[in-house]
Amino acid sequence: MDHALPLPATPAIDAPALPDIRPIPMAELLPWLVFGGLLMLLLVYLVGVEQGALSVFSNHYVHEFVHDGRHLLGFPCH
Ligand SMILES: [Zn+2]
Repeated sequence: MDHALPLPATPAIDAPALPDIRPIPMAELLPWLVFGGLLMLLLVYLVGVEQGALSVFSNHYVHEFVHDGRHLLGFPCH
């Protein structure tokens, strides 16, 4: 004698189609990595070194704008 209840019918669910994800070739990725690296170097320069004799801009606006970041990152300042 079988006392098992019948399982309810599984509702039909339409799964969304997955997008076709393909790896990015290194030849397409490398220029963006170099560009991002140069932007990061520029940012580190502006935050950490832009003052005094190494200053690119003659005024102190860049130095004052990033002054808190300079202290936060431990660059020597004053
Ligand atoms: Zn300072």
